[in-house]
Amino acid sequence: MSELIITDLHAKAEDKEILSGVNLTIQSGEVHALMGPNGSGKSTLAHILMGRPGYEITKGQIVLNGINITEKPTWERAQLGLFLAMQYPVEIDGVTLSDLLTESSTEIPDIDGLLSAESSLLGLEKVDLSRGINSDMSGGEKKRMETLQLVAIKPQIAILDELDSGLDVDGLKVVSSRIERATQEDGLGVLVITHYSRLLEELKPDHVHIFVNGRIVDSGPAELANELEKTGYEKWTSTLETSVSLGGL
Ligand code: ADP
Ligand code: MG
Repeated sequence: MSELIITDLHAKAEDKEILSGVNLTIQSGEVHALMGPNGSGKSTLAHILMGRPGYEITKGQIVLNGINITEKPTWERAQLGLFLAMQYPVEIDGVTLSDLLTESSTEIPDIDGLLSAESSLLGLEKVDLSRGINSDMSGGEKKRMETLQLVAIKPQIAILDELDSGLDVDGLKVVSSRIERATQEDGLGVLVITHYSRLLEELKPDHVHIFVNGRIVDSGPAELANELEKTGYEKWTSTLETSVSLGGL
């Protein structure tokens, strides 16, 4: 059983507070969807969980399987079982996916066999995997590549930052159903950041959280994502403004 516990996490970048008290626990096999307006700090949370430099954690902590990883470097977090699929995957010329998997701490018995089976499942059969990771790939191909890395590495907890952006309808379906399968077969725990409930049709969330101004302001069951798609974020952003202005009275 794995467990990621985020407690009262506050963080800033360039003197601006971006995270203002995030509390969230993700366990093996669970899918948590995080939805919120642009600029609310969702990607910042994803980056801080993975240990990207450039942010200052001013309060709170991140604990993975009982180990406090708040100050640990990214590679150690990865080794401990954390994985991030980035909103904007980077191109790494000269490093192939099998180079990356060979160097990773996960022991994969038959990398070529695995890549060939999984890549055709993910609709990447036309992509030449001997090229550098993500090199000259389309937006959708990069998102499929992120998923390929995920299923090969088999992390314990994965953060998926807008994995659906750039994916066509078919891509959305194969990627989300493949990850749902990993939650069932491998007990993968998922934090999925998205704007659209369509991704959540196959990758079924156990909890949906609304993220506004650097913190979770509401949580509910899967249906909350559908409600949100109809109503937008106004209900949550306006309540927040009211409470802020009342607080100021
Ligand atoms: P979201 O993913 O929810 O759209 P982000 O986490 O990307 O939001 O950004 C939240 C806010 O923090 C934005 O106003 C963004 O400009 C700011 N921000 C993010 N990273 C940095 C940084 N390294 N330095 C300064 N500001 C940042
Ligand atoms: Mg973002």
